[in-house]
Amino acid sequence: MSAPADQPGAIDPIPLALGQGTVDRRADLRTGSWDAVPGPWRVLLVDEQGEAAVRRDGDVAALAEAQGAAGSPGERLLLGVGDDGRAIVGRLVDRGSAALPDGAAWASLRSVGMRLPADQRSLLAELVALAGWHRTHTHCPRCGTPTRVAGLGWWRTCPADGSDHYPRTDPAVIAVLVDDAGNALLARQAVWPQGAFSTLAGFVEPGESAERAVVREIAEEVGVTPTAVRYVASQPWPFPGSLMLGFEAHVAGVRPPPRVDGVEIVEARWLSRADLPGLAAAREVRLPGRLSIAHQLVRRWYGGDIPDQWCRW
Ligand SMILES: [Zn+2]
Repeated sequence: MSAPADQPGAIDPIPLALGQGTVDRRADLRTGSWDAVPGPWRVLLVDEQGEAAVRRDGDVAALAEAQGAAGSPGERLLLGVGDDGRAIVGRLVDRGSAALPDGAAWASLRSVGMRLPADQRSLLAELVALAGWHRTHTHCPRCGTPTRVAGLGWWRTCPADGSDHYPRTDPAVIAVLVDDAGNALLARQAVWPQGAFSTLAGFVEPGESAERAVVREIAEEVGVTPTAVRYVASQPWPFPGSLMLGFEAHVAGVRPPPRVDGVEIVEARWLSRADLPGLAAAREVRLPGRLSIAHQLVRRWYGGDIPDQWCRW
């Protein structure tokens, strides 16, 4: 059985949970003032831990709107303008002093993401990534002066030297490694519980292509050197600010023995498509959840849906 063919011409060749939003970001508004942002605004709250105000009703969740609570310009982020013509504005608050909208509670994208509608899930990823950058990039990297929020939340300006600083997104690669017989190598990180397995991943280093980063990371972590890599799709991962570039990597031979680095990765095993259901049912192998691109890369390799019961979160 070979991997399923990606759809030619599709923007998203595999189903992904984040980064698929269709809200118009309206970058053209960013050089103007808040006065030009169409209202009445929908205001979404995010706290210092990157958790958002969310309403939950059983398995269904929705981002909670804080009416009339737009805060000062320095706390606001223009996320976009919805189909109804109203702006969606994120607001940075401190949990201790913020009033939650009625019926709402603080929740993380990781915990509540798959219960949100797809558009809201992607909106929350945008809000969490942008808010996280503001929280951790408060001073000018050139001169150390505290910077001010500008561009309706899309950059920061240094009042001392006039330099502008833009939100960071750090590229990382993530790959499912497949051998000549169609087996996939999955690995367990040292910080994960027994039985938790996923694809291999790591940051792209300065001066390195994404493809070479895939080869290097796999060789470093499990001692197997891929002979070919193929880009599949990407997904933002705002914990705190990554863009995951998803690949399928191939290695020559059948089940070449892995040599784990013992530091980051403590266990790696080859799985066949036929093995997976039994191992998952026995909880010997637990896979990453639907929010992650790792889940979708494993699903693409497997060639069918991966039930939630097979996942560890
Ligand atoms: Zn400066």
